[in-house]
Amino acid sequence: MYDITIIGAGVSSVFLAYTLLQTESGLSIHIIDKGKELSERKCGLDEGKSCECEDGCSKYIGFAGLGMSEGKFNYTNDFGGELGKKIGKNRVSELMKEVDEILCYFGAEQVDLYSTKNESLAARASAHSLKVLSTEVRHLGSNLALEVFQNMYESIKDRITFTFSAQVESLIKKDCFTIGTNQGNFHSEKLVLATGMSGSEWLASRTASLGLYPGKTRLDLGLRVEMKGDQLDSILKETFETKLQYRDRGYTSTTYCMNPKGRIIRKYQHGLVMADGQNQHEKEVPSTNLNFTLFTPRHFHSYDAAMKEAKRVIGGINDKRERVVVQRLEDLKKNTATSCIENNLIRPSLKGDTGNLNDEVPGLYIETLLHFFEALEGLMGETIHPDTLLYGMDAKFYEPKIYTNEKFETEIPGLYLAGDCSGDTHSLSQAAASGIYLGKLLRQKN
Ligand SMILES: Cc1cc2nc3c(=O)[nH]c(=O)nc-3n(C[C@H](O)[C@H](O)[C@H](O)COP(=O)(O)OP(=O)(O)OC[C@H]3O[C@@H](n4cnc5c(N)ncnc54)[C@H](O)[C@@H]3O)c2cc1C
Repeated sequence: MYDITIIGAGVSSVFLAYTLLQTESGLSIHIIDKGKELSERKCGLDEGKSCECEDGCSKYIGFAGLGMSEGKFNYTNDFGGELGKKIGKNRVSELMKEVDEILCYFGAEQVDLYSTKNESLAARASAHSLKVLSTEVRHLGSNLALEVFQNMYESIKDRITFTFSAQVESLIKKDCFTIGTNQGNFHSEKLVLATGMSGSEWLASRTASLGLYPGKTRLDLGLRVEMKGDQLDSILKETFETKLQYRDRGYTSTTYCMNPKGRIIRKYQHGLVMADGQNQHEKEVPSTNLNFTLFTPRHFHSYDAAMKEAKRVIGGINDKRERVVVQRLEDLKKNTATSCIENNLIRPSLKGDTGNLNDEVPGLYIETLLHFFEALEGLMGETIHPDTLLYGMDAKFYEPKIYTNEKFETEIPGLYLAGDCSGDTHSLSQAAASGIYLGKLLRQKN
């Protein structure tokens, strides 16, 4: 019997476990993950081959979860989740400081903390109906993220029981929790689910068997934009990157994952193939382009309804293969298919199928992007180049919200949710902060 079992060994779980170990509480802790430990997380996609991972792609699952991505820790309440609404913005800011201190202790100080705050830009943007969202950032990049999480693993692995490559088949609560897996049954006094986005379908089915039902689900869809590398110079001259928000007809759209000198890559999630962006990799020649996605969130009454919409729109574009559609801005505006981009000024960094996004993407996302571009042109004082490329499409998925109180405890006593599966966090920093927060509560052992 363990005192605490955490299902999921991702970002929130690692910070939760680390926090639990910071006092001599003597708690016995068990972490179960369907993926592998960090050193064994290998996928053919990393070497330009195809993904042949069994039972889920190693890029996304296993120790550190999605922390093994770009590792960009944005320390802000303005985006990346609503943790501040739940436990107070000041407390979240303090927890984020702790997140950063822990990261630095394990090697993250190799990269500097920087701020994207720029008051004069914020004032100019506001005159064009744009809001600048600013944050402090510690951007590890994928190699350093790997190193930091591996160091964290080394520091906790002898004091925690890990069960990797485990399929959790059942969860039963009687006097304690019984967790049925393909590696046997485990028992625990308290149970934390920290399964992130990669466990969303599993979570929905397992929580239903416990009598918990998820509600509203958010889905962000948007086009990924690939611009001339210097197109945003007038905005970016004082900050490396920016996050802009635009309100249009009741929808609030926000730029996401801006990558100066970066590339567009394919992203694989939930059986769908999307256009994502990637920063310039340490060893790569920088591209001459800049990319970002303009995401517009919508809320659906259930997780199934949100996934149905994602599968309808993106699955339709994918056409049962890995199809991503690319179109020139000028053609998008004229509603004509792009036929050839051989001589396009902006060279596509991803090979997609040329076409007409107007025929494939719901009008909301196209109209919003064009209105946002108008506002952006006002702010920049110049026209966005007609050879700008738009890729259909990118998506950000969210967990359905299951009710938890301010201690992240569900309506089942002793059952907690941490990180993205709580529906309260959507980012590395907030997921990690939720882990520390819950760790402090649970180590009080009562
Ligand atoms: C491609 C990509 C890049 C991202 N980059 C950034 C970024 O740079 N900055 C940022 O702030 N945010 C980023 N995010 C979001 C961020 O990674 C997440 O918000 C964060 O990792 C959430 O942490 P978590 O602990 O909730 O879940 P995760 O880190 O996803 O961990 C979940 C863990 O649960 C395990 N699991 C799932 N289901 C089960 C199950 N049934 N049984 C056992 N184990 C299970 C998984 O193997 C995984 O280890 C990115 C997201 C994606 C998809």
